[in-house]
Amino acid sequence: MAASWSMGPGTLEVPMSLFAKNRTRLVEKLKPGQVVVLQGGESIPHYDTDIEYVFRQEAYFTWLCGVREEGCFFALDVGTSKSYLFIPRLPKEYEVWMGKLHTCEDFKRMYAVDEVHYVDEIQTILKGLNPDVLLTLSGPNTDSGLTAKEAVFEGIDEFKVDNEILFPVIAELRVIKTPEEIEVMRYVVKVSSDAHKQVMLFAKPGLMEYQCESIFLDHCYRVGGCRHVSYTCICGSGHNAATLHYGHAGAPNSKLIQPGDMCLFDMGGNYAGYAADITCSFPANGKFTPDQKLIYEAVLFARDAVIEAARPGVMWPDMHLVANRAMLEHLKKGGLLKGDVEEMIKLLNAAKNNPEQSKFFNWEVVDRFSGFGGVRIEDDVLITETGVENFTFVPRTVAEIEDFMANGANFK
Ligand code: MN
Repeated sequence: MAASWSMGPGTLEVPMSLFAKNRTRLVEKLKPGQVVVLQGGESIPHYDTDIEYVFRQEAYFTWLCGVREEGCFFALDVGTSKSYLFIPRLPKEYEVWMGKLHTCEDFKRMYAVDEVHYVDEIQTILKGLNPDVLLTLSGPNTDSGLTAKEAVFEGIDEFKVDNEILFPVIAELRVIKTPEEIEVMRYVVKVSSDAHKQVMLFAKPGLMEYQCESIFLDHCYRVGGCRHVSYTCICGSGHNAATLHYGHAGAPNSKLIQPGDMCLFDMGGNYAGYAADITCSFPANGKFTPDQKLIYEAVLFARDAVIEAARPGVMWPDMHLVANRAMLEHLKKGGLLKGDVEEMIKLLNAAKNNPEQSKFFNWEVVDRFSGFGGVRIEDDVLITETGVENFTFVPRTVAEIEDFMANGANFK
């Protein structure tokens, strides 16, 4: 039977051939004589205790081999396309804490790789491959500014190592999803969409924000087998909805939801290392006020305009402009802004504190929205040859949201 991984009945079976295909795509971009070496994640203890954070594998490592265990290395010989997994050699007595330890043969079967050895054998095995150069991973995450952790093992200084070639190649390959990866994306976005719907049915004034977070986590894990969410849940209500990454340790989704609040919930499950990232915004009591409808529909209008325009070949900054133009037009129609939209865009692109901008705002109307919070609509979509396929399936229009929150089961 072909090796695969799932979290049991009802959850998606991820074939290990998904990762083998990623390796094939990588080999096609590299040269014989090069050997790729990646170091997987290490477990991180809570300070000086013997308790560890729930382990999450490093993303590039996952992409290359799908191995979930900590403390591993992985090598790919470009010349032969052969794959080598290196696992920690753990003392037999660890079985008291960890249960039966997997053997090299077990790992080979589980992950469908060519060879499995212990980490302490890595130098010898790689020497045997006689590589011209080892390619290690080093490069920036453009969101965080942090750098991928480069593989280091005892004896690596006896090899020629290049840490510049690999990162941009894999980073680019990860942007384009294979059909196998698309299936996992579709699954995790479906699970996360359903979890958002459960939250919408549950949310109401009088609950704490974190209770909504809890419903999301429960659905993703209990129903979808997602042990992780992709990021800390952002469950802002009222003015908290204006804080981009609300939900952090100092503000742990800990406000009481008030009558009249808008909720902005940005949450996504994670399955086999593949992430969903979805935001739903809705009134806590299930019914939009005219002001809430105005702001919400401006954002929805922008979302629709981008989905309409996005296709292969368009520029990312242009999608930003499409969204801005759509929102400005809508807010002008709603009486919040006045004047020419094209002129507003030019001005918005210029110096932020330009007092000239002021003339576009109807300040009496704008002041009414102070403390409103914010609206965000976030979908996970696939760019196809013909445009966009939206994987996100949640109530989106004002009518859909109101109907769903009143009569739940009707939204299919
Ligand atoms: Mn998000």
